[in-house]
Amino acid sequence: MRVTGSTQNLGVMGWPIAHSFSPAMQNAAIEQAGVDAVYTAFAVEPTMLPLAVAGLRALHFRGWNVTIPHKQAIMNDLDEIDEDAAAIGAVNTVVNDGGVLKGYNTDVLGFLGGLRDAGFDPAEKEVIMLGAGGAARAALWGLMKSHAMRVTLAVRHPEKAEALIDDFAERASMLGTRLKAIHWSSMDFEGAFAHADLVVNVTPLGMTPAVDNKPPVDWRSAKPGAFAYDIIYTPAETRFLHEAAALGHPTLNGEDMLVLQGAASFHLWFGKDADTGVMKTVLREQLEAASFSSHVQD
Ligand code: NAP
Repeated sequence: MRVTGSTQNLGVMGWPIAHSFSPAMQNAAIEQAGVDAVYTAFAVEPTMLPLAVAGLRALHFRGWNVTIPHKQAIMNDLDEIDEDAAAIGAVNTVVNDGGVLKGYNTDVLGFLGGLRDAGFDPAEKEVIMLGAGGAARAALWGLMKSHAMRVTLAVRHPEKAEALIDDFAERASMLGTRLKAIHWSSMDFEGAFAHADLVVNVTPLGMTPAVDNKPPVDWRSAKPGAFAYDIIYTPAETRFLHEAAALGHPTLNGEDMLVLQGAASFHLWFGKDADTGVMKTVLREQLEAASFSSHVQD
């Protein structure tokens, strides 16, 4: 990669940011596409976010990714918000068009793209989502846009899931998806689990280094052929996925989601398709290298 005076600048901002895989993935895609751009990482303390955004605007950055803890807060510093990002209430990608900063959320495309590539269509399906945090918002919006029949949020604190459902209730009713929050130790959970076509883990349970953890599901009670989707990507096969696979259920981990959200950002910046094969290869190399690390993030 040759950096010159006309090279476009991009990056990812978060706090902390040192463990991000995005620079390696994006620079590999940039090189493969022959685009004159470079992508770096910025550690931005929460109190410095408005200054950092003003700085990148002043420096004519083409765009950047946004990760924890800035995904919600940055919305106040942007000029426009895309429909998906507004629905989810979080931005993970900024595009700078002539000084106008627009926020997007490509996590939803990553979440759905992984499922689509695995051959699962959520339309008219019963879904259980384990967890109701930040990633759950993008996943829920994607499932609603795909016209899932029902999404049951099964969590340890149902009042938090109820609050999330309140945010989405109006759009869910327009799109025809029924939403429900339950405690994952309740009798209701057993019934919902037995009927689910898709079970998604959006908690960090099972993530490296606590790989023995898992959400409280017993795959022996699942519907035959129910699809197990864990958006965790370290380890590649969580205990949740391992137990599902052992009983013959189709499974998917979070690697594709991570690559495809990055590829969607790439497309927004450059108007070109990223080579997702190259991005996946680089991500796997990075994951391998970081396999002894206890802290990873997108
Ligand atoms: P988050 O906002 O912190 O939400 C985590 C959710 O998990 C909350 O509902 C939380 O419940 C629940 N939870 C956390 N610890 C728990 C525990 N010990 N027992 C039971 N429930 C627990 O996190 P997030 O940003 O949504 O991320 C969730 C996971 O997705 C992480 O592993 C992250 O790495 C992964 N992720 C992957 C991608 C990808 O591209 N593949 C993208 C984003 C995130 P409470 O509210 O009760 O604490």
